[in-house]
Amino acid sequence: MRVVFMGPPGAGKGTQAQLVSTALGVPHISTGDLFRANVGGGTALGIEAKRYMDAGEYVPDSVTNEMVRDRIANADCAAGFLLDGYPRTVEQVAELDAMLAESGQQIDRVVELTVVTDEVVGRLLLRAQTSGRSDDTEEVIRRRLEVYAEQTAPLTAVYRDRGLLVQVDGMGEIDEVSARVLAALR
Ligand code: AMP
Repeated sequence: MRVVFMGPPGAGKGTQAQLVSTALGVPHISTGDLFRANVGGGTALGIEAKRYMDAGEYVPDSVTNEMVRDRIANADCAAGFLLDGYPRTVEQVAELDAMLAESGQQIDRVVELTVVTDEVVGRLLLRAQTSGRSDDTEEVIRRRLEVYAEQTAPLTAVYRDRGLLVQVDGMGEIDEVSARVLAALR
């Protein structure tokens, strides 16, 4: 099973993606986590990515696409994966299609976690107190929400047209939401 997870910052996407990937028995691939690991490790990719992340902007497609290409070529992805935070731009959608087509694969399902925007900012500010993430300040959070609305929200229409999109209410307790996601995937 090849699944894409979408949802605005603060939708609980990372938490749900982790739980659902475990339940499905496929690796959880978070581009945000991959970037943060590179930032932490001080790699050239991390140094490049950090400039964008700290401003709430997207890391350029050229960097992001190659990182994902490498990751999904890994043997653990042969039977499927759950992508969390990728694709985020229309160009990334095309690139992912091309990567998968090389091995005769395609995306099976796209889950969009929906939330009430006002609550999302509150959730993120709460997370900011403990996350230690340098992009969890109010100003950067607002920019991340704008960038999501401009560049990523339009992807739902693309996947809806392909009949792949399932929208899941992301409000509520963590286990309620993951039960909804798993029900939608079955
Ligand atoms: P996340 O943990 O998914 O919120 O991602 C944190 C940050 O990493 C984002 O605000 C972007 O700067 C960067 N990032 C993650 N995924 C992507 C992507 N698919 N394309 C571009 N930038 C990304």
